[in-house]
Amino acid sequence: MLQLLRRTMPNRQFTRFTSALAGRNGNHTHEYFPIRTDWTLEQVEKVYRQPLLELIYQAATVHRQYFDPLQVQQCTLLSIKSGGCPEDCKYCSQSSHHKTFVKAEPLMQKEEILKAAKQAKESGSTRFCMGAAWRGVSQVGNRQFERILDVVREIRSMGLEVCATLGLLTKEQAVKLKEAGLTAYNHNLDTSREYYPKVITTRSFEDRLNTLRSVREAGISVCCGGILGLGETDEDRISLLHTLATMPKHPESVPVNALVATKGTPLEDMKPVSVWEMCRMIASARILMPSSMVRLSAGRISLSPAEQALCFLAGANSIFTGERLLTTPNNEFTQDQALLNTLGLTGKPPFFPIEKEALEKTELGNAC
Ligand code: SF4
Repeated sequence: MLQLLRRTMPNRQFTRFTSALAGRNGNHTHEYFPIRTDWTLEQVEKVYRQPLLELIYQAATVHRQYFDPLQVQQCTLLSIKSGGCPEDCKYCSQSSHHKTFVKAEPLMQKEEILKAAKQAKESGSTRFCMGAAWRGVSQVGNRQFERILDVVREIRSMGLEVCATLGLLTKEQAVKLKEAGLTAYNHNLDTSREYYPKVITTRSFEDRLNTLRSVREAGISVCCGGILGLGETDEDRISLLHTLATMPKHPESVPVNALVATKGTPLEDMKPVSVWEMCRMIASARILMPSSMVRLSAGRISLSPAEQALCFLAGANSIFTGERLLTTPNNEFTQDQALLNTLGLTGKPPFFPIEKEALEKTELGNAC
């Protein structure tokens, strides 16, 4: 029957039909939207520039092939060391180059961090992310790094995914984090290689790629995305998507952020990003990196419930809950729960992709 349809239906229609069939039967075939890392820039542009509703429809189809579309992971992000960062990221309230409301604070004590992780778990989060405003682990004393390793061990033992964003990282540091049980490391590229020097001058795009390589080589899953609204063009967004989607392995997690313009930063007067731009970026990421978690991250507070629902339809399957996202305000917890209930969405259990891969390889090895 399918062969007959294949011969008689136009290609596009046939693809849609079989994709819909696959979704309805719960048969998660990847035949029509395979994972690819060989996208050309032109192909990425073609995906990105589709009419928006067509793009969202296609992304929603892909989403259903790789994920349960009724699950949205809730994550909590805690700033464990705020302010006083020597980097000059133009968008950031924590850079010591800008005069903002954020004051430099020391690294939080272990007990405080663990208390926050416990609360996050009780509120339904399955991933706990910790951010430190500094250049990198090499710039702080070993004692501080040891404290973080200790915290990672404890939080992992709570059954949570643990993610950290600690700036530049060497391979040795990455291995130590992996041994402590770190699930993922976040290091965003922020924007295109071309536009990057207009946003940050104190570390290069290549520095970021090197950190991502260290993370990957250590066997930690990669969380890497960007920020919209920094003054970049559509071409920059396409270029960023191309860089992410052509990495040797796609980041397991792709946060899509909208700038939260903060007074005192060089970007304080930037025009807010529209929901249409967010949806276009989310949907493109979903199609280009179908098995990655696409996270609707900073800037969600400016989206209405209906606009957030559209982002979920476009393929976002994670949000950050809790009062603050590092130092910027975030949505009310009760409003988030009400929205998820209204849409019939549930939380997503923790998932440890790299550990699962290793297990599968072992099982395969045993079978042979
Ligand atoms: S984004 Fe990170 S690295 Fe850049 S200034 Fe802010 S805290 Fe520092």
